[in-house]
Amino acid sequence: MNKVIKIYEILKDTQPTYEETEHDWMRNGLSSTPFKHLVSCALSTVTTTARTVKACNALYAEVKNFDDIRKLSDERLIELIKPVAHYNRKARTLKKMCDIIVDDYDNRIPDTKEELLRLPGIGQKCANLMLNYKYEKPVIAVDTHIHRVINRLGIVRASTHEKSAEQLNDITPEEYKKHAHEWLIAVGMNICKPRKPHCSECPVSAYCDYYRQRAA
Ligand code: SF4
Repeated sequence: MNKVIKIYEILKDTQPTYEETEHDWMRNGLSSTPFKHLVSCALSTVTTTARTVKACNALYAEVKNFDDIRKLSDERLIELIKPVAHYNRKARTLKKMCDIIVDDYDNRIPDTKEELLRLPGIGQKCANLMLNYKYEKPVIAVDTHIHRVINRLGIVRASTHEKSAEQLNDITPEEYKKHAHEWLIAVGMNICKPRKPHCSECPVSAYCDYYRQRAA
């Protein structure tokens, strides 16, 4: 069994999927429809889950679809999403994204990575999450937590999230792709902290380059 498979086999048995946790994102239904999933993801960049949930709950109390967002005044949209970082810029890009989805795609969310990446405010992470969760395409989204974990483990070597995502998707067998994001993000958020990783509690420390180098 190679190192990548060994790691996934351990994570599968030790880390929860979103459905198995009381994760605030899922509990508040931020991904309960494709519309909410895409908008929530666009609003969540460089913002904590708690603040994203606050903004999304306020927004979804007033809008049900992309056209509803287009019809909001700029001032009202900004007021609703104010808890998230860069709310002014996000309000502008969100409206542009809604224009494209309504006018160019007849209210349909595109289902290829290339088209998703052309939507304003949608980057690699949101595009991959959309493909994985809503279209059940086998692709792993990489955020800052996962980027850190997989580089420390030494299963990828990449300076950017985009390169990490490419490498991780290349080396991950199909059977692990559906939940890999959820297992790895659980490790990154709860154990493999940026400044002080809790390596003694980590179930995959036996396969971690960073841990081995620190112990040497
Ligand atoms: S052993 Fe430490 S550095 Fe390696 S993945 Fe686990 S917590 Fe992170």
